[in-house]
Amino acid sequence: MDTTTTVLPNNGGRRRLVLLPLPLQGHLNPMLQLANILQSKGFSITILHTRFTSPNPTNYPHFNFLPIPDVGLENHSLSDIGNLIRLLHHLNTNFLRPIRDSLARLMLEDVGVSCLITDAQWFATQTVADSLKLPRIVHRTSNISSFLSFAAFPLLRDMGYFRPFSDEELKSEALVPGLEPLKIKDLPKFLTSDSEEACELIELMVQGTKRAQAVIWNTFKELEELELTTLSRGFPNPHFLIGPFHKYFPESSSSLLAQDQTSISWLDKHPHNSVLYVSFGSLAMIEESQFLEMAWGLANSKQPFLWVIRPGSIQGFEWLEPLPDGFLERIAEGRGYIVKWAPQQEVLAHPAIGGFLTHNGWNSTLESISEGIPMICSPCFGDQPTNARYVSDVWKIGLELENGLERLGIESSIKRVMVDKEGIEMRKRVLNLKEKANLCLKKGGSSYTSLEDLVDYILSL
Ligand code: UDP
Repeated sequence: MDTTTTVLPNNGGRRRLVLLPLPLQGHLNPMLQLANILQSKGFSITILHTRFTSPNPTNYPHFNFLPIPDVGLENHSLSDIGNLIRLLHHLNTNFLRPIRDSLARLMLEDVGVSCLITDAQWFATQTVADSLKLPRIVHRTSNISSFLSFAAFPLLRDMGYFRPFSDEELKSEALVPGLEPLKIKDLPKFLTSDSEEACELIELMVQGTKRAQAVIWNTFKELEELELTTLSRGFPNPHFLIGPFHKYFPESSSSLLAQDQTSISWLDKHPHNSVLYVSFGSLAMIEESQFLEMAWGLANSKQPFLWVIRPGSIQGFEWLEPLPDGFLERIAEGRGYIVKWAPQQEVLAHPAIGGFLTHNGWNSTLESISEGIPMICSPCFGDQPTNARYVSDVWKIGLELENGLERLGIESSIKRVMVDKEGIEMRKRVLNLKEKANLCLKKGGSSYTSLEDLVDYILSL
């Protein structure tokens, strides 16, 4: 599909912002939501994007889409985390020239460009922006807490945390000095697998964020007030906390996969708070043995479940081949429903949902908080362990699977979150956060005010 559209000759006198998303589902979603928010504030929006995992422009007729010529991504797939690191490296080296050329052309047009807003992981674009004398604002799709752990990398290196850890250390309850409440096992996983390249990329992302004019966060002040104070000490650039982005407008689909709407009609048949939603986002992969443990844990829990299993997400299989014969009908006695991809925000907002077994990607975590759904956490990599620690130990709105994906732990956690008194308390706390999330978007609320400030700030550039 050729996604090229020409820039509208008449943009109604609106100032133009160019947004550059990272081509990954968990990054595209919030960036396109941010684009909608800024468009509603009177800016005209141009989305500069790779052809690799391109957003679908027909869902956003009010934006201009400008594809960057792809350089060497034709055969790229995201089947392991190593590929993700290589992708980030590739984007930040080989795409800089085409990005610069595209921006330079846009700046020559009558409407010009007021500001470039890039995903934080496009860290090398700061140099491009500087060379064009174009202000760059960073959009950080993750939260402040996990960013602080990334920002602590030099310190962690000095303290000897850049090495593979023993099983004993990974089980330790001791907190990492300066990064409380994080434990060793919560540190970003690539530290423990000794990946210098990943650490280097993270450090460049942190430096690129520091050099940007300002930072936009998909979080809200009431959730991360202490962390914001710590952040502001090390990163004096202005920070705009204007989340949760997805609550501003009804969902407009930036989904790269077709969302199975039968999820909703299936949920309609279930009582309030009775169904566990299970999804590990767009990138995480699990092994066959972990998948089977999940299946048995879900079946044994006797709780209804809606389970998203992405094709290709079980290592070595196309889809459901490892599932025992007759699993849904006989073993789980018709209580389960499996889809390839769900309309997740709609699912989490459905009254039948009572809990979320999640990998704790930041979008999923925030979407769960925004709907008042307690979580069972099984983080995989990157910022997910930090998010899970905050869910279980700081906000106390969920619990973590202590022994990973293992059937007994899954079964008992489902009971604790969906049935026991402990779960009722978690639900109360997460409903309280949901209320705060709603209030912060209303006139005078923290995100509402921060968005007004952001608009004024961009106009002042
Ligand atoms: N998502 C979805 N349908 C699904 C699973 C996930 O629409 O079946 C969306 C979800 O709502 C979220 C995004 O995909 O906005 C996943 O982002 P997240 O940060 O949670 O995880 P990632 O995919 O980046 O690991």
